[in-house]
Amino acid sequence: MSRTSQSFLTGLVGAGIGPSLTPAMHEREADELGIRYLYRRFDLDRLELSPESVGDLVAAARLAGYDGLNITHPCKQLVLPHLDELSPDAEALGAVNTVVFGDGRAVGHNTDWSGFARAFDRGLSDARLDRVVLLGAGGAGSAVAHALLTLGTTRLTVLDLDPERAAGLAASLEERFGAGRAVGSAAADIAAAVAEADGLAHATPTGMAAHPGLPVPADVLRPDLWVADIVYRPLETALVRAARDLGCRVLDGGGMAVFQAVDAFRLFTGIEPDADRMLRHFATLVDAPESDARV
Ligand code: NAD
Repeated sequence: MSRTSQSFLTGLVGAGIGPSLTPAMHEREADELGIRYLYRRFDLDRLELSPESVGDLVAAARLAGYDGLNITHPCKQLVLPHLDELSPDAEALGAVNTVVFGDGRAVGHNTDWSGFARAFDRGLSDARLDRVVLLGAGGAGSAVAHALLTLGTTRLTVLDLDPERAAGLAASLEERFGAGRAVGSAAADIAAAVAEADGLAHATPTGMAAHPGLPVPADVLRPDLWVADIVYRPLETALVRAARDLGCRVLDGGGMAVFQAVDAFRLFTGIEPDADRMLRHFATLVDAPESDARV
């Protein structure tokens, strides 16, 4: 018997999302809560649609009575012009991963940044985060940067193989959070930057099954540095292992993956999911043999 007479229809739009763990996380949690809840995949590759079709898919879902959609690569920016309203954080980030339909409106949110922030709060709550180095200035790195500055980092050094991308992200963070809060630099400057930092956040693909290895020279790590990796397949990346072996406080990428889903579930349903249960379920899913899935 359902706990609520309401039912929910949701889904995920993106390319190559077949192996995504998010549908299973949402549907299992809804089952546990006794809620009727379907979470469908709209895989652009399988549908042979271009990324620009995200607008048509949003319109179709709205018309069909969906409660909301998650949006992933490569549509998180492309979806913006198709929405009626953005949450302040989604607007600041210029990226949406969650769309909620209600009262005839489509409202964009970003639970990537809040997912990282909640995971950080849970796993590294009392860690010093005055000075932090962020490696990777792509989409996920932008969300992590927004979270760290929101949580109180006073100076974030953003490094990327592409120094212009690092500088661009730092400039947009300074606009949002104030001058002097972020600086961009080339990835080659990692040793000097980490030497002065309380923590290192990693947001490049290095460490995924398809891109194995350490994203930083091993000798930049030291026991009093905290390390947060956002790669989660595998959960124990080379970076996570090396940092743990040294005695660093470490956050793996699972928390961000789960809490983006926790926050989206609440936005879609108005019901608070059980985050601990979702974390336990995710741990069983992530051990499955498939690799390189997007959340
Ligand atoms: P992206 O392609 O948008 O950005 C990756 C950035 O890393 C690029 O700017 C690239 O130049 C830079 N880069 C690559 N290799 C580098 C290196 N060796 N040194 C310095 N910079 C380097 O990708 P994205 O969407 O930001 O995702 C990055 C990774 O984050 C993904 O591969 C995925 O594993 C992970 N991720 C995790 C979650 C989660 O919920 N835990 C969510 C999204 C992404």
